[in-house]
Amino acid sequence: MKIAIVGAGAMGSLFGGKLSSVADVWLLDFWQEHVKFIQEKGLHIVEPEGEKIISVKATIDPADVPKNIDLVIIFVKSHQTRMATEIASGFLGDNSLVLTLQNGLGNLQIISDIVGKNRALQGVTSHGATILGPGRVIHAGKGPTHLAVQKEISEQIKTIANIFRHAGFEVEISSNLEGIIWGKLIINAGINALTAILRIPNGKLLEIKPARELMNKIANETAKVARKKGIIIPYDDIQAKVEEVCRKTASNYSSMLQDILRHTKTEIDSINGAIIKEGKRLGIPTPFNYALFSIVKAIERSYTVRILY
Ligand code: NAD
Repeated sequence: MKIAIVGAGAMGSLFGGKLSSVADVWLLDFWQEHVKFIQEKGLHIVEPEGEKIISVKATIDPADVPKNIDLVIIFVKSHQTRMATEIASGFLGDNSLVLTLQNGLGNLQIISDIVGKNRALQGVTSHGATILGPGRVIHAGKGPTHLAVQKEISEQIKTIANIFRHAGFEVEISSNLEGIIWGKLIINAGINALTAILRIPNGKLLEIKPARELMNKIANETAKVARKKGIIIPYDDIQAKVEEVCRKTASNYSSMLQDILRHTKTEIDSINGAIIKEGKRLGIPTPFNYALFSIVKAIERSYTVRILY
């Protein structure tokens, strides 16, 4: 299988690096130093058992990626999805699929609009990764990856799931598309903005009582919006789930914290911002999400933000 990863930052490198043991993988990213490091010294992935050096093709030029790619994985930030998908559409063949494993709401819709509904796939992943520097990432949290089933292409999805499994990922195929998206959104709403504001890794949220209480309030508030939408959340106990994720990804710097530390635009609009919008539409107050949204927006504006569109 030929796989292209568009956006080979923390998560794109992790998935691309691991998938390269079982598939023909191209990493495409416009971060020149990172790509140069991978080309010259290999991709370095720091795992709990030690650092692995993986030889994988990496480029900054979309023209280097062959046509008729079987699977594109979009791993840019939400506000970069449109541009990344437009670039990816240049190397799609008749049966190519485009998968998003990003966080936040709205990515699947953007991808569907560009490549067509029957080629756009949604997944979510509980893995966590942090960029250590050009060419180096740390695999800072493990967990299942869910792929949403689509009747018309269910065989292709099964094949993708098997490739992922061979690369060492735990994969489940789910028929509850909205459930997997909102199930992940509840966790991101609870963890990402708070860790970004407090500048702490995920696990620390459990050690600081007021932070832990706030995290649970945000997650529960988000779950109320999801339930009002009629979404079946794929776990029963919201607090237990969000705390479990903090434990399993204890050393991870959430992607929003990584953005704040780099002074780049965060995904606050597609996470807490999107929840506020849905809450308004459905008549569910979202004061906790609103407070975090406003603080992260204020932090973004307090820097000379380098916006990567
Ligand atoms: P990241 O910022 O580390 O990586 C994104 C990469 O995309 C960057 O290297 C950037 O240069 C590149 N990029 C942006 N636009 C591009 C374009 N048009 N063409 C090529 N490259 C482009 O982000 P990340 O932490 O890997 O997160 C990616 C997505 O995965 C986000 O939606 C995030 O919420 C989600 N996610 C992250 C984690 C995590 O632990 N980091 C976990 C689960 C999900």
